[in-house]
Amino acid sequence: MGIGVAQGPGGLEQVYTLAASDALPDAGSGGGGGIDGEFCDDSADRSRGWADGYAALRRDVTALANEKRNGHVGPLLRANVLLMRQTIAGFAQLCFELSEWGFEEVTFNQLGGNDRPEFYPAHRLLPEQADRFAEELPGLRAVLARRGLRLGGGEPYLRRIRASARDERLPVGDCKPGQQFLFINETGLVAPCSFSAFDYGVPLDQIASVEALCGLSARFAEGRRRRRLPACEDCHSTQIFEKFAA
Ligand code: SF4
Repeated sequence: MGIGVAQGPGGLEQVYTLAASDALPDAGSGGGGGIDGEFCDDSADRSRGWADGYAALRRDVTALANEKRNGHVGPLLRANVLLMRQTIAGFAQLCFELSEWGFEEVTFNQLGGNDRPEFYPAHRLLPEQADRFAEELPGLRAVLARRGLRLGGGEPYLRRIRASARDERLPVGDCKPGQQFLFINETGLVAPCSFSAFDYGVPLDQIASVEALCGLSARFAEGRRRRRLPACEDCHSTQIFEKFAA
């Protein structure tokens, strides 16, 4: 399994190129593969700085999916798609194509403004695009399910996308931090989400026992009680908003 990193229009993106191998990680054992990027067609290859990147991914993912089908074992094949003003109209078509490649799941993010604020205004979703996307998603999900592709994005996630497109804030009173998932950042801080790592995060080396692990949730909740972060007044945690639900 090789890993390629490419610069996309929305900022730095990590792109996993998946090649068939004799030792495929199994989805059941926690292994997984994914594509994270703005894949609509090969028109984005140039901006990514990866000539023929789309074609290479199609070839490798198809090979990996075949390998998994034949061997009955392998990673979950999930693609994450970046939604932008200029690409969202091609989302359904992209899903059908990813289904043909052998992907099993598709999730999505809308373009955010943190990485490249200068790029954001002209490429962010328009409110009417977000509305239409949310309205059409259930129908698309049903069609894709019949092809064996699971399309993520629960109702709260669609609400989050529509609110962001309107610059509406969505505060979260109690996110039950650390009860359902943990975020670990590149410096080894364990936190309720990526937005709170440097405020509520606990260093990994302080979690050396089951008790410490089980106590994280109470620690995070106490941290939130003592000091509520501005990020919580407009929470963008995709986990909280059920990005992976369907
Ligand atoms: S940003 Fe959201 S998920 Fe993170 S701590 Fe605040 S409310 Fe919880």
